[in-house]
Amino acid sequence: MEFIDLKKQYQALKKDIDKNIKCVLENSNFIMGNFVKDLEKELADYVGTKYAVTCANGTDALQIALMCYNIKPNDAVFVPSFTFFSTAEVVSILGATPIFVDCDEKTFNMDAEKLEKAIKEVVEEKKLNPRGVIAVDLFGLPADYGKIKEVVKKYGLFLIEDGAQGFGGSIKNKKACSFGDIATTSFFPAKPLGCYGDGGALFTDNEEMHNLILSYRIHGKGEFKYDNVRIGLNSRLDTLQAAVLLPKLKAFREYELEERQKVAKMYSEKLNNYVKVPVIPNNYVSSYAQYTIIFENEEERDYVKDYLHKEDIPTNIYYPKPLHKQTVYKDYDFNLSDLSVSEYLSKRVLSLPMHPYLDEEAVTNICNHIIKALEEFRHE
Ligand SMILES: *Cc1c(COP(=O)(O)O)cnc(C)c1O
Repeated sequence: MEFIDLKKQYQALKKDIDKNIKCVLENSNFIMGNFVKDLEKELADYVGTKYAVTCANGTDALQIALMCYNIKPNDAVFVPSFTFFSTAEVVSILGATPIFVDCDEKTFNMDAEKLEKAIKEVVEEKKLNPRGVIAVDLFGLPADYGKIKEVVKKYGLFLIEDGAQGFGGSIKNKKACSFGDIATTSFFPAKPLGCYGDGGALFTDNEEMHNLILSYRIHGKGEFKYDNVRIGLNSRLDTLQAAVLLPKLKAFREYELEERQKVAKMYSEKLNNYVKVPVIPNNYVSSYAQYTIIFENEEERDYVKDYLHKEDIPTNIYYPKPLHKQTVYKDYDFNLSDLSVSEYLSKRVLSLPMHPYLDEEAVTNICNHIIKALEEFRHE
């Protein structure tokens, strides 16, 4: 069994993907070919933002977003501790300081009250300039943007939405990647919408930001390619990746997102009585980048994980170490007082196989094994 079955997806979309790849090869327009423009139009249309700009990966997308705000040493950017490393890494790359914020126990996403508390602390300490917040749509669920936007506004900060896992999710029919002043996503193969290598994109409604993104993406270009007006990156999406993404986005819109919901619903119905299953607040839709359950303790989680492994059922722990516990931040001393939920979750979470081509038989089989393992563990 596959954790994310990209082979099955390829078989389903092979005709269109192969046709598009062949087209790129025959035209040899490998950099900034027409498929890139087409994809950017489709992405903006789907998400509902004025602009979408593709780039080389989701980490670059975040870095470019921060560069648009001229983030530099002595700046503080607030990020969740329970997320993938990139969210904080990009802050550190620019010499600024990531301030870690704890998450909500039910949604896994940034806790808006703890965000405000962390901002107040940085303001009072007067060592760093609070500049902005990167909220993450973890496991496919949009963050608590109602409350986060209030806090961000109150303190005059910018909001970047890290929608690397969020693409396809929504709040009241407003799509993920449209909530931040700038939003970013990733097309890493395992994300809800993935390509066949690395890829990413930025989204915004702001024309000035759009122009900056276009410049930073290609070496800080000005009026033309050999006019460089700022220090930027080389961060374009390959035409080949755009060629793969176009038919994948079509399938995502037409049925894959819906199928992901169905798989999650089956899981939750079967597992609800045994473990904590994902909580999706009213009016929210998750694209289920991961389907993640919570066990009572670490021993129980590890027991079930080993049991499933022996049954050839792959699982993953996202994330075994909150960011404030990463080795690289070992000498770090900002806001380390209140990150207990991130630490609690890192010891209890387990993500199960999740993709739109998972059938009921497979889900039932996985759930039966989980229940059996739990019964064994809890009776020992
Ligand atoms: C995957 C991921 C990224 C980085 O995306 P890449 O395309 O791998 O660079 C950033 N943030 C989060 C939350 C992610 O899950």
